[in-house]
Amino acid sequence: MTRFYQKLIILTLSLLLGRAGWQGLNALFYLGTASALNSSEGGQSVKKINRSTEEWEKQLAPDQFKVMFQCATESAFSGKYNDFWEEGVYFCASCGHPLFKSETKYEHGSGWPSFREVFSEASVEYHDDFSYGIHRLEVKCGSCGAHLGHLFYDGPEPTGNHYCINSVALNFKPAAEAKKELPQVATLSAGCFWGAEYKLSQVEGVISTAAGYSGGKTKNPIYKQVCSGKTGHAESVQVVFDPKTISYEQLIRKFFEIHDPTQLNRQGPDIGTNYRSVIFYHDEEQKQIAENIRQELGLSGRYRRKIVTEIVPYQTFYQAEEFHQKYYEKNKGPACSI
Ligand code: FE
Repeated sequence: MTRFYQKLIILTLSLLLGRAGWQGLNALFYLGTASALNSSEGGQSVKKINRSTEEWEKQLAPDQFKVMFQCATESAFSGKYNDFWEEGVYFCASCGHPLFKSETKYEHGSGWPSFREVFSEASVEYHDDFSYGIHRLEVKCGSCGAHLGHLFYDGPEPTGNHYCINSVALNFKPAAEAKKELPQVATLSAGCFWGAEYKLSQVEGVISTAAGYSGGKTKNPIYKQVCSGKTGHAESVQVVFDPKTISYEQLIRKFFEIHDPTQLNRQGPDIGTNYRSVIFYHDEEQKQIAENIRQELGLSGRYRRKIVTEIVPYQTFYQAEEFHQKYYEKNKGPACSI
């Protein structure tokens, strides 16, 4: 009887392997991480570049083309950015889309440049890669679709993310040079994020927006938890803007216009610390600009009460559930008080 079962198990496995193959089996038990990661970024959009493979081949050096459009991998410890620590930004070597900041680069020891975070949610897209009989998350440029590397989860706290990227797919620019042409990120809380996201998305020079949670302690919070007030997060909007069209100062002035910064922990009928008014600054320059405008408006006589907007350092932004992205547009009209 035991032998019968052994034969049955071997036969079943052979049939399964024959039908689906090892990679197919991997796919069979796969839970859909890449699509979940991509859909969680539905709030931000980026201009896509569609060029033929032949066009890319003409534009790129042979080693770049091989990695970026034929999914090759450069040899470990061979890339120019593996042991490179200058301050600046890494752009896509094919299309110039911003991908990673130097401050998120860390020494992983694997032999390839390693980053713990992407430049913005719109920087990359994720694809399932079942090559070599294992499931990995392939990371591609969010604009031109070039292969960059893979995402693993053996990186540093708090996210554990490890973007393992080919040097040849990157083009580094020093901070001062990069800043002039880069989209910039602002994180703002002005009450209910449904209305705040819509109003900020309408500002000229805003490239993309995402609704989410900032300023709290709970990792990966869900809407219900944030609404309870126990996570400490504020409903926030992460804005990517083009500094060539709108300055951070102009954006902050718009932020003050779209809500009432004198209401403490509320906006109209929306009451709670999750509706507080906050500017999460990303660097000292943003902090200085925000503080100057808050002071100027406070002295302007425009408000009868004191401005209570907090200006605090940016820590993390957790993108909210897809349901909350572009909520105002999906539901064709106002849904909250701002
Ligand atoms: Fe690209």
